[in-house]
Amino acid sequence: MTSTICLDHWIGGKRFQGSPDRTGTIYNPATGEATAEVPLASAGEVDRAVAAARSAFESWSRTGLGKRTTILFAFRELVRQNAEHLARLIVREHGKVLTDARGEIQRGLEVVEFACGIPQLLKGEFSENVSTNVDSYSLRQPLGVVAGITPFNFPVMVPMWMFPVAIAAGNTFVLKPSERDPSPSLMLAELWQEAGLPDGVFNVVHGDRVAVERLLEHPDVAAVSFVGSTAVARRIYETGTRHGKRVQALGGAKNHMVVLPDADLELAADSAVNAAFGSAGQRCMAISVLVAVGDAGDRLIPLIRQRMQAIHIGDGMRPNVDMGPLVTREHLSRVRRYVDEGVAAGASLVADGREVTVEGEGFFLGPCLFDHVKPEMSIYRDEIFGPVLSVVRASSYDEAIDLVNASPYANGVAIFTSDGGAARRFQSEIQVGMVGINVPIPVPMAYYSFGGWKDSLFGDAHVHGMEGVNFYTRAKVVTARWPESAVKGKNLSFPR
Ligand code: NAD
Repeated sequence: MTSTICLDHWIGGKRFQGSPDRTGTIYNPATGEATAEVPLASAGEVDRAVAAARSAFESWSRTGLGKRTTILFAFRELVRQNAEHLARLIVREHGKVLTDARGEIQRGLEVVEFACGIPQLLKGEFSENVSTNVDSYSLRQPLGVVAGITPFNFPVMVPMWMFPVAIAAGNTFVLKPSERDPSPSLMLAELWQEAGLPDGVFNVVHGDRVAVERLLEHPDVAAVSFVGSTAVARRIYETGTRHGKRVQALGGAKNHMVVLPDADLELAADSAVNAAFGSAGQRCMAISVLVAVGDAGDRLIPLIRQRMQAIHIGDGMRPNVDMGPLVTREHLSRVRRYVDEGVAAGASLVADGREVTVEGEGFFLGPCLFDHVKPEMSIYRDEIFGPVLSVVRASSYDEAIDLVNASPYANGVAIFTSDGGAARRFQSEIQVGMVGINVPIPVPMAYYSFGGWKDSLFGDAHVHGMEGVNFYTRAKVVTARWPESAVKGKNLSFPR
């Protein structure tokens, strides 16, 4: 079926129709139906969005902190009021289940709530009389126009890792959302406007590589926040910094969960199943490798398998569905190919999701569990980004640590154990940015910062929390001397 609706960009506080020359198709992954077209911006259309953001910057950066927070509080309320509509938009274009979509909106709102504290977060330091009649103090000021380029897997939460903090700090923002599920970002733009945000402070430009390249080289873009796959993140970082921009580029992941023999295995099995197959494995914090130490594997595999049999697969809009489809037909084929490769390489396929069928043309694959996976296999090495969990057997704690630390990815990791000493050693020795102890998906709260190490992040700033505030502002230190006459206050001739 051919879709007829074509989305608009959002530039300068209103919808802006993109040129029909280049468009992409949006699908409902649960039915396989094309639902709309998305315009893929030209460089000129990107320039228009940046120009709108630039002209809004002067006034927005001088807007008082009280006024800014009033708008942020109003935006928070509007997102809450419209959360159900927003969640349904996410499900229709991404495919995740409705409860997951609601959850991602909630996590995004937590960053808005953090940003509501901007008057406190921007407070500088003050030292009186560092020398005679000389004071020293620091300020943080916004950068100007900043851009966010985001992936398909959290179309609301990932943009909300960025723009609440950037806008609260006085910047103006151009969002280039994923072209696979772009509709929620337009709704967010409308809610900002309803909250009272001045036109041009938040803009949405749809597109692909052409739009991204233009944002990276545009002289009026001061900083770029990117979240996506590692190959693109590396390129974004290199190109953006070459053009003199501040860049934070979060990349892909291959997250391990280490299970020691003394762990609560029922908890470990529940956690592994939720973290590996939630959102069909399309989460940057999904667990894709389980490292079973000693005899933990033999006891754990039957527990995981049992839970996998209870996973209900179908349209995420339906109640009681636990796992939806993959995002596109191409991605489904890619993930299936990895499963075929794992079998060919000799890993043991304990549960084969390729056998699962769901009525219709949706992009479904059931959950897959491999055992006895070896580090040289492609199912171990590559980020699959689908419902495929690989179990690797390790004979000792040290072997498990070495395996995780040898991975080029270092986004999240978890250990399951009942030994506090082992957990303390693990948190210190593991070379990964976000660590869970008996917690499979250790996503930091909004007032901490989110980000991995190694090939999971290029740049030195993680997103949101204080690192986000620092990323979107520049520090200035003032050293002020006042002449003796002014310090004495000789002009103070008030009547007594
Ligand atoms: P992606 O890298 O394909 O796309 C991300 C963004 O970059 C999109 O807006 C896309 O339009 C743009 N893009 C794609 N190819 C480009 C190119 N060649 N040049 C310039 N721009 C390009 O990622 P995706 O498939 O949308 O999302 C899944 C990936 O994102 C996974 O690798 C996942 O691990 C990662 N991710 C990471 C985090 C994190 O916090 N580290 C969070 C979410 C997702």
